[in-house]
Amino acid sequence: REGRRPLIAGNWKMHLTHLEAIGLVQKLAFSLTEPQLEDAEVVVVPPFTALRSVQTLVAGDKLEIGYGAQDVSAHDSGAYTGEVSGAMLAALACRYVLVGHSERRTLHGEDDAVVAAKVQAALRHGLVPILCVGEGLDVRRAGTHVAHCTDQLDRALEGIPTEQLQELVVAYEPVWAIGTGEVATPDDAQEVCGALRARLAERHGPETAAAIRILYGGSVKAASTGGILAGPDVDGALVGGASLDADEFAQICRTAA
Ligand code: PEP
Repeated sequence: REGRRPLIAGNWKMHLTHLEAIGLVQKLAFSLTEPQLEDAEVVVVPPFTALRSVQTLVAGDKLEIGYGAQDVSAHDSGAYTGEVSGAMLAALACRYVLVGHSERRTLHGEDDAVVAAKVQAALRHGLVPILCVGEGLDVRRAGTHVAHCTDQLDRALEGIPTEQLQELVVAYEPVWAIGTGEVATPDDAQEVCGALRARLAERHGPETAAAIRILYGGSVKAASTGGILAGPDVDGALVGGASLDADEFAQICRTAA
């Protein structure tokens, strides 16, 4: 995979209090060895309320576990009750933020314009967006999933200069595979991840496309990780349910390392 360091990110969704979060990160740190954490980048994505605790824990123990947030406001500050800004996340030393997760798109009405504005907000504050794209079952059945995903990618990145995209992470997450137990086949994952990279190369040149990490997400478990990561354009995994189990998540990380 052309020198790209595999990335395993655990999206905890709306699970775990900050105290439970501390427990999970400690278990994870205990299970993973230094060389494993060097070979694969391991990131947890807890709810906002646990970010400060995770920050303190990771800094205190010098653990090489990264963290990020599950969402960011498109706005920088102001009268936006309930929102969390990129500056606030940057102040917690978050490196990553999920943008355009299918649960935000479908349950919270985030359209491509909102997703694009959030990608830009993340970049303005020095956060690395983990931009999620993926098709629903209807699109998959119609056979137009590749175009659907590359279109989502185009719309999310519209107008962003190439030099700002060097660290971007893209996650291909077919909606029919998220939280369903139905993992895509390695060929399905490679097909779309490869097409996303080809589109990035068209728009931003081969060097940028080769630097951007593209993850697969959707019911990834330890047992399916090896197969999924065999695809040359699949640089890691965005893991939901299985990231709440320290042993399972650690096993996924070891498989990627
Ligand atoms: C996700 O939430 O990004 C995800 C992939 O969930 P799960 O692994 O539970 O399907």
